[in-house]
Amino acid sequence: MKKLLCKPCAVALADRGKTVKPAAMRCEKITCAECGRRRFGIPYDVTGWPTRRKKEGTDK
Ligand SMILES: [Zn+2]
Repeated sequence: MKKLLCKPCAVALADRGKTVKPAAMRCEKITCAECGRRRFGIPYDVTGWPTRRKKEGTDK
């Protein structure tokens, strides 16, 4: 799932066991999907949610 995240939130998600892959190279002003603030960040590809979103082969 693509998410716009600031750096601290991306790090926090990775910390919580998610796979957080940067999907862009340059920072821009975004609204972070986690903390909801306007900050500098980039889109990330976030996978590995341990929730019951979709139960198809996402957990390895
Ligand atoms: Zn954030």
